[in-house]
Amino acid sequence: MTHSALARYQRQMIFPGLGEAGQQRLLAAAAVVIGCGATGTALSNQLARMGVGRLRIVDRDFIELNNLQRQILFDQDDIDANLPKAEAAARKLRAVNRDIEVEGIVADVNAGNVIDLIRGATVVLDGTDNFSTRYLLNDACVKLGIAWVYTGVIASYGMTATFVPDGAAAALPGERTATGCLRCLLGEMPPPGASPSCDTAGVIGPGVALITAVSAAEAMKLMTGRGELNPGLLHMDVWDHEYEILGSGVRRSDCKTCARHEYEFLDAQVGVVSSSLCGRNAVQVQTVGAGPLDLASLARRLESVARSVRRNDYLIKAEIDGYQWTIFPDNRAIIKGTADEDAARSLYARYIGG
Ligand SMILES: [Zn+2]
Repeated sequence: MTHSALARYQRQMIFPGLGEAGQQRLLAAAAVVIGCGATGTALSNQLARMGVGRLRIVDRDFIELNNLQRQILFDQDDIDANLPKAEAAARKLRAVNRDIEVEGIVADVNAGNVIDLIRGATVVLDGTDNFSTRYLLNDACVKLGIAWVYTGVIASYGMTATFVPDGAAAALPGERTATGCLRCLLGEMPPPGASPSCDTAGVIGPGVALITAVSAAEAMKLMTGRGELNPGLLHMDVWDHEYEILGSGVRRSDCKTCARHEYEFLDAQVGVVSSSLCGRNAVQVQTVGAGPLDLASLARRLESVARSVRRNDYLIKAEIDGYQWTIFPDNRAIIKGTADEDAARSLYARYIGG
């Protein structure tokens, strides 16, 4: 270990649960955080500071003022600079720890790219805010044999669970036994709109901090082979003081994903896809499986139809037809001012194509 590493991690190496051997394993590990909002920033912050050797942060979105109340890696300068979340987070964390590799990837995680994004990871952390991406991650992690940690926070409460697929149990340090998967724990994916969201029920920072602290510790245990893992679905509420473990991590013998290896989310089609961004009066539209957009030439084309086209290396912001557009190089547009997916797709077809 380098002199700088010995100094940097000295306090956590004194902790007997970890020691110098545990630190070596963290430095040799690779973690991928999918989603960089409230939970994703808190998780990435912990992972970079504890010294995970390679950290990849993936997020599709840009930063808004109402994020700063809980998304701890962002500040007002990032908003002024129109930085995407993944890039802003990576910059902050490189400034915190220049001895590790931090990579920020601005992308929507979907069936067409999830395998490439997580392949080779020691552990994957869920920083998303929706179940369709979590069930996709579950498919991908079971298929590749990668351990992952689920985290969800709403209002003042949240949940976390740790999953160790077959391949991961053999590959991870320590004596880990395989567990069930997300589908074993929760069953079929909850339909959209079935559960409250941060946009409808709100969310407070202390709830995020509590749940993500547990999830980050779980990742630390997975990467080092030390400590007891969370055995089920840990539910905690900072407002009402509820702390309980619901369900168990036991595998269901009839599970479609981890017993029968049918990956319905991973096998989903590619093409032009859209999703309504809950509570934001905005729709995301994307062509999946196409090459990257040339932002410079698109910005020039939009000059004739748009008001106030602004561009940096990561995105274009423009007002077109009275809607606020944010366009990313991965063929993605977030169109604000409508929640109607059909309307958004036709706007997308008109100004971007696809
Ligand atoms: Zn399962």
